[in-house]
Amino acid sequence: MRILIISDVHANLPALEAVLAAAAPFDSVWCLGDLVDYGPDPNECVERIRDLPNLTCITGNHEAAVLNLLAVESFNGDARKSALWTANALTERNKHFLLNLPETAVVDHVTLVHGSPRFPVWEYILDTQTAAENYHYFETPNCFVGHSHVPLMFWKKGKEPGVDWLILKDQVVLQLEGKSILNPGSVGQPRDGDSRASFAIYEPETSTWQQYRVEYDIRAVQKRIRDAGLPHNHANRLSSGS
Ligand code: ZN
Repeated sequence: MRILIISDVHANLPALEAVLAAAAPFDSVWCLGDLVDYGPDPNECVERIRDLPNLTCITGNHEAAVLNLLAVESFNGDARKSALWTANALTERNKHFLLNLPETAVVDHVTLVHGSPRFPVWEYILDTQTAAENYHYFETPNCFVGHSHVPLMFWKKGKEPGVDWLILKDQVVLQLEGKSILNPGSVGQPRDGDSRASFAIYEPETSTWQQYRVEYDIRAVQKRIRDAGLPHNHANRLSSGS
């Protein structure tokens, strides 16, 4: 069984379509939050994801911000502006879909969260210390996270106290052993210096994780972000993936 793992689509429909085309065929989709915000296609992305086969989808901090404008107080100027734009753009039906997403899910012996198992919506796992602390907060062999927009793996073997980590490059194939925390990177707003859309394929029978990158028309999305009146920074950073 091929399970497509995506996260942080951020309303970037061309990036999402490129990922779906490159990843096909797949049997199920696990989406790790931040479907909307920053990009120009929030409704189209929600509707495309909602209709994917055997979908398990959890919520992210940008869903929280867009759906509860009080939380936007904690966002900076540009983030606040695009959260308000997105809240206005979303249809009631799509808001309802996002409002009902869970903060965490356990599917096929994998824990799914946006940020971390300890603080599912907001915490970033970007270092071994934070990863080690989070090992106490999930029972399954593996936990898949998003949020940092960086494809990463943290793993722990046996009873050893330390945690190792690895940045996941395009085409890497991992055999998962021990207890691992994995991040597929971001579809619509990569932040690891690679501008291509990022995703992974997980095969539970063999416990393998395959990491991929795919190109899409960045310039077209940048133009539409600017034309929509969204902050230019959200468009500019797509070129460098940072
Ligand atoms: Zn995000």
